[in-house]
Amino acid sequence: MSNNSIISIRSLEKTFPSNDGLVRAVNKIDLEIARNEFVVLLGPSGCGKTTTLRCVAGLERPDGGSIEINGEVVNSVTSRTFVPPERRDIGMVFQSYAVWPHLNVFQNVALPLTDGRQKLPKGQVKDRVMECLRLVRLEGLETRPVTDLSGGQQQRVALARAIVTQPMVLLMDEPLSNLDARLREEMRLELKNIATTAGVTSLYVTHDQSEALSLGDKICVMNEGEILQAGSPQEVYARPPNHFVAEFVGEMNFIKGKVTGPGQVDSPLGERSYDLPPNCQVGSTVTLAIRPQYLGLAKDPDQNSQSPEGLIVSKSYLGDAVLYEVELSGVTLTVKLSGDSNFAIGQRASVNLPPEPWHIFP
Ligand code: ADP
Ligand code: MG
Repeated sequence: MSNNSIISIRSLEKTFPSNDGLVRAVNKIDLEIARNEFVVLLGPSGCGKTTTLRCVAGLERPDGGSIEINGEVVNSVTSRTFVPPERRDIGMVFQSYAVWPHLNVFQNVALPLTDGRQKLPKGQVKDRVMECLRLVRLEGLETRPVTDLSGGQQQRVALARAIVTQPMVLLMDEPLSNLDARLREEMRLELKNIATTAGVTSLYVTHDQSEALSLGDKICVMNEGEILQAGSPQEVYARPPNHFVAEFVGEMNFIKGKVTGPGQVDSPLGERSYDLPPNCQVGSTVTLAIRPQYLGLAKDPDQNSQSPEGLIVSKSYLGDAVLYEVELSGVTLTVKLSGDSNFAIGQRASVNLPPEPWHIFP
């Protein structure tokens, strides 16, 4: 089957034996990744991200489905095709830096060119290694033992080594997770630039939603071996298709309610109208969801106001915004007000509920 994807994953399945029977680590995943696209697999621990990545790398043998890399079938369970990792056009970076401690920076990066399958004529090795070291901003450190480098620098060595063979595909499994928070954010932007400059197609695994939102051209939100949503960061943030994605990506308030009529829901927020999905029957229960920044607070509720009143139970100052927790009719709402605001804990306030954007989940 021909298409323009660099990575094509179809009905991928992988199960592992465990004490309580088989674990479906990957449960019929489909994914197409275009040339130079940066795709992130995002999900909680144990949802199958690493297993998916390892199948693409050839480090796991799938139980079902197929994988193509740049038009070549590297894996097909039905036709019993399996191309081993060293013959796949990939580079890999892992959470642990996995650099050779007895080699210096240059030697570590040069290794795939001097000892690997893709040996380069001796005269070209130096240029290629130096080009990669410049790209990851380690020029000048070539002769340093890698063990003298910081964690961030060691991960740059690993990254340079992964791209030195100019692979078609770069696979990364939580590569920033061992770095401290500040460095992690810096490296995010840089990593994206490096991947773009190197012209690789990237598949990146993380459990960190803010990392996924800032890095991904496309994010695949996974749970229990399945992709629940694949879309741009904006789509995933603005249009979560279900409760799991809504809860996993960004902050969200959830309020249970009951459909009382066409477009009407009764909940602790009162009986109000919403833009309900077509399949909501009168009498059924639904979950209303809204992000904290879309709620507002007012001190002196006007008597005719439809806004429910609540009690402010917590307040945390974020610098550019303040996060309040407001209790009303047995639910706690998180409200995020940008800029300065001076509501106090213990104070009553009315919660302004906007007409949108609400998410309604059956
Ligand atoms: P993630 O990377 O999203 O945290 P993994 O892909 O590592 O998740 O794991 C998915 C599921 O498969 C988990 O339940 C995990 O325990 C199980 N699993 C992964 N690798 C193995 C293995 N080699 N043997 C048995 N179970 C495994
Ligand atoms: Mg993992």
